[in-house]
Amino acid sequence: MLASCAYALVFLVVGRRYPSALHFRYWIASSAMYAVILVGFGCLPRPAGATIDALMYGALAVTDVLIVMGVRVFEGEKAFRPWMVALVAATMALKAGSVVLATSGWAVSPFAALVVDAIILSLAIGITGLVIYRGHDTPMRRIAGAAMMAYVPGYALALVGEWAMPGERWLARAPLMLDQLLLAVMNLGLLAMCGERAQQALRDAARLDPLTQLLNRAGLRVQEKTLVRPGTGVVAFDIDHFKAVNDRHGHAVGDEVLVELAHAARRLAAVQGGLVVRLGGDEFAAVMPGSGIEGARLFATQLTDAVMASGERAELPVWTVSLGIALVAADDVALAPALGRADALLYSAKRGGRNRMAAWTARGVEAPDMRAVPYPGAVPVDLVAASR
Ligand code: GH3
Ligand code: MG
Repeated sequence: MLASCAYALVFLVVGRRYPSALHFRYWIASSAMYAVILVGFGCLPRPAGATIDALMYGALAVTDVLIVMGVRVFEGEKAFRPWMVALVAATMALKAGSVVLATSGWAVSPFAALVVDAIILSLAIGITGLVIYRGHDTPMRRIAGAAMMAYVPGYALALVGEWAMPGERWLARAPLMLDQLLLAVMNLGLLAMCGERAQQALRDAARLDPLTQLLNRAGLRVQEKTLVRPGTGVVAFDIDHFKAVNDRHGHAVGDEVLVELAHAARRLAAVQGGLVVRLGGDEFAAVMPGSGIEGARLFATQLTDAVMASGERAELPVWTVSLGIALVAADDVALAPALGRADALLYSAKRGGRNRMAAWTARGVEAPDMRAVPYPGAVPVDLVAASR
């Protein structure tokens, strides 16, 4: 009872620090209710009768269900599911039925009554534990679910002890001892689940750009090993005169342009199994393993088409990009050299007048050709901005 109160208190203290984390309320309710039920079991006269016993067992099932409800809220799901009512009702009906049977003259041996009790107790905690265990695959959630399911073999073990050594009060002692261990593991699992998510959120925040949700440089470093191989296409691209877009249309519209470009690039790179990184400001890079120069050129062409199509929509200003297309060479052991080459080509495209792409020629990486080729339909951004 004290242990369960302590867990309720821990959830209360942690939950107060995060008022929007409603899952703690379910876990506080579960732990507090469990403590009250344990006191009830200690205080009630025995036999307590079918109704009281059914209510007590039903309340125990509710404590298990509350844990699942908290876990569901934690995962962003609706807390309540109809099966929860069915589980509590089934527990109550089974307990009431077993008490009525035992008191209505049927020759039920005390051991058989214990087996039935253990089965009824196992039902709710076993099923709710399984639901938690089988949900989202996070190690801490699995630990919490496994701790709940472990009550079932615990009851079975106690029954074996009771059967082999009657009179030693196995069923009173074993689950009580096990309860100390499993309650601790379950509640620590629930708490660690929250810690695990907070850590993941921090990791994501460190690796993802919050505006576009693209990887940043740190995120690229994590994935770098899988991307460095000869023939990986690297396309660096940057919005032309983006400062002017911000100055003329406002920072919020500038943000929209960045997001639009990021989404289009991510979609097109994904087709070739690649990813896109926001290198900083308005500069991005697509990295596409195995794309070769043709795949990289295709990406660049499709992206410029998407940029033009975006400019034709009324809600965004017309804007253009410049691109530099390079390849990871056979002796590259990191992405940096290819990124550097793509960047150099991008700036040659800028120098060449912007709104164009510069690429390696088909002669290969040994003989780069820094030609800047305007793509069809190129419209200088200043002219367009002036005509608006
Ligand atoms: P260039 O054609 O040479 O690339 O010119 P530019 O104006 O695009 O380049 P410059 O580096 O001078 O300016 C980049 C601008 O990008 C300046 C900065 O205010 C803007 N910028 C950087 N990050 C963000 C962002 O997250 N949102 C918005 N709206 N603007 C940003
Ligand atoms: Mg720019």
